[in-house]
Amino acid sequence: MKNKLNLVLNIENDFVIPVNDIDIGKDFVLIAGPCSVESENQTLEIARAVKEVGANILRGGVFKPRTSPYDFQGLGKLGLKILKTASEETGLPIITEVMDVRDIELVNEYADILQIGSRNMQNYSLLKEIGKIDKPVLLKRGMNSTVNEWLNAAEYILLGGNKKVILCERGIRTFDWEYNRTLDLNSIPIIKSLTNLPIIVDPSHGTGNQSIVKPMSFAAIASGVDGLMIEVHNNPKQALSDRKQQLNLGQFKILSAKIKELYEFTKTLNQ
Ligand code: PEP
Ligand code: MN
Repeated sequence: MKNKLNLVLNIENDFVIPVNDIDIGKDFVLIAGPCSVESENQTLEIARAVKEVGANILRGGVFKPRTSPYDFQGLGKLGLKILKTASEETGLPIITEVMDVRDIELVNEYADILQIGSRNMQNYSLLKEIGKIDKPVLLKRGMNSTVNEWLNAAEYILLGGNKKVILCERGIRTFDWEYNRTLDLNSIPIIKSLTNLPIIVDPSHGTGNQSIVKPMSFAAIASGVDGLMIEVHNNPKQALSDRKQQLNLGQFKILSAKIKELYEFTKTLNQ
């Protein structure tokens, strides 16, 4: 590593981040939920279904980083309230993205984990402010970023005083004509060899294609991750964002039944 990564490279062994009854970094964590919170009914139906089949944390975007300014931008504060209702009913903690320094306080009131999205991985003002809060942060890899740049982004948060950083590999840009992305699983064992921060994989954004989320979830587990984050929707074809990559409730049930077993098996391989 070229740069000084004093904190990231020197995290003590068995770095564990408790969120409710899950110890992220020790227990396998399965985060699931819609790309975007669209309505209370939609979010509640998805939350109940994913909880029933083993998800530990509910995801859902309310501030959405969309390529086009004309696309659905998220429900903002109303979306946070909907997530809270779903969390209270199911007992699932919430993760949601914060895009702007001005929204940190609001998102922090509702979320159990704050997500820094791929597009903001090098938003250093945001990273510095996130470093000041005392909540777990999921730091996604920038889609054009190297592992070194990603770890430096984590270093910013740790340096601010927030030691609860979870990394999330979500794929990088590539030349493929259809999906323009590669789920870079090389990064998992590399990150594991460099730092004890927990790392999870998002095979939904990493593939952009619901039909290959299952095999890439298996591949991610085999590479040694601490968990997965998967987009799940009750009606993917009508979703307001990321229609092509969200699993329906049935597909998620099948996936969830298989991954915990595979995780236990993989642990024995890596011992
Ligand atoms: C998301 O997880 O909601 C998201 C927008 O992902 P990414 O930042 O990885 O594109
Ligand atoms: Mn999405």
